[in-house]
Amino acid sequence: MAWHVVIAGGGFGGFYAARRLEQVLPQQSARVTLVSSDNFLLYTPLLPGAAAGTLEPRHVVIPLREELHQTDTVLGRVTGLDAGGSTLEVQSVEGRNERLAYDQLVLALGSISRVPPVPGLAEHGLGFKTLAEAIALRNRALLNLEIAESLEDPEARRSFLSFVFIGAGYAGVEGIAELQDYVADVIDRYPRCRIDGTRWLIADADDRIMHSPPRRIGSRSPRARSSPRGSSAGRRG
Ligand SMILES: Cc1cc2nc3c(=O)[nH]c(=O)nc-3n(C[C@H](O)[C@H](O)[C@H](O)COP(=O)(O)OP(=O)(O)OC[C@H]3O[C@@H](n4cnc5c(N)ncnc54)[C@H](O)[C@@H]3O)c2cc1C
Repeated sequence: MAWHVVIAGGGFGGFYAARRLEQVLPQQSARVTLVSSDNFLLYTPLLPGAAAGTLEPRHVVIPLREELHQTDTVLGRVTGLDAGGSTLEVQSVEGRNERLAYDQLVLALGSISRVPPVPGLAEHGLGFKTLAEAIALRNRALLNLEIAESLEDPEARRSFLSFVFIGAGYAGVEGIAELQDYVADVIDRYPRCRIDGTRWLIADADDRIMHSPPRRIGSRSPRARSSPRGSSAGRRG
């Protein structure tokens, strides 16, 4: 009987694993099933563009069924694994609990955003990892402008016009740059906010931004300014 390969996760790892298996496996030699909670691959390098509205959300996703022709795609959430019994526990979108037997398993469920113990972060912070979060980020920026515009007190306005990103890796740096551009584009419609200007801060424990590439490349990035309140990316508006 043909082997059953189950891939958990339809992101970069899972999608490309399925695509490669489709290319290299001889026909009928194995059945490949991909289980993912989304029916698309989110192309994260373009996510900052979706947050800033320069890209349509549909242009930053790749529908799995459109690209994977010999893989069974199952929309559901992986809830558990019985490694001894070689079965994956899956909850379907309508809430049915199912067990999926496999011969080979590829685990590619990605990661979750870290929430460092910064007071207020868990309650008020927004993540920047999913399409919904990217859109929520843009909506939050717009809402802040609306609220600031409605306030008489300039001091009260200032807190709504200050934007802080935590984490100066690629996602943080690209995210703050795109969102800053977006706010700069729309701020003319908010006369009080335009006069006050906005404040953009990026905070990181490291002394340089974009620290994931090798030091040789990363050292070309601007050095952060130490500050008890974080590293300032400047004022704009
Ligand atoms: C804003 C942003 C920009 C980035 N830019 C770059 C870049 O320019 N270059 C670069 O190399 N990397 C970039 N990255 C990092 C890159 O996105 C990750 O390294 C990559 O997505 C990791 O791939 P993965 O397959 O492990 O996880 P993911 O791509 O996150 O895929 C995980 C998949 O598993 C699914 N899933 C999760 N939990 C479950 C569950 N319980 N059940 C079923 N399915 C589940 C998810 O829906 C998702 O489809 C960026 C990340 C972000 C957030």
